[in-house]
Amino acid sequence: MNRPCIFCDIVDGRAPAEIVHRTEHLVVFPDIRPQAPVHLLIVPAKHIRSVNDLAPEDRPILADMLLAGKQMAQRFGISASGYKLVVNVERGGGQVIFHLHLHLIGGWQR
Ligand code: AMP
Ligand code: ZN
Repeated sequence: MNRPCIFCDIVDGRAPAEIVHRTEHLVVFPDIRPQAPVHLLIVPAKHIRSVNDLAPEDRPILADMLLAGKQMAQRFGISASGYKLVVNVERGGGQVIFHLHLHLIGGWQR
């Protein structure tokens, strides 16, 4: 990874973020421009550009990401009301940070 990547910098502690959860495979921190009352980013420690670049050996990372989504939804009190887990893929899919991440979005009144 030669090109600078803000999410690699956050994972490695070179850029600031309020890390709310960390596992062997990932970190979770709030989105800097939240689109909902709860908006967290679930970011693998490994630099993977997008879903298009996933390899079979990345399965444990993906499992961890989804489970972290469930866990964080519980911790932030939005499990019962419901939430979105969103992955934007490449420019046409709305991806602007090219380091794989899962958005956990929720907390609207329901
Ligand atoms: P995406 O469009 O899926 O690539 O989403 C990238 C997200 O990263 C956006 O919602 C941004 O607000 C968020 N973001 C960008 N830079 C940072 C940062 N330094 N800390 C937290 N969130 C960020
Ligand atoms: Zn990266």
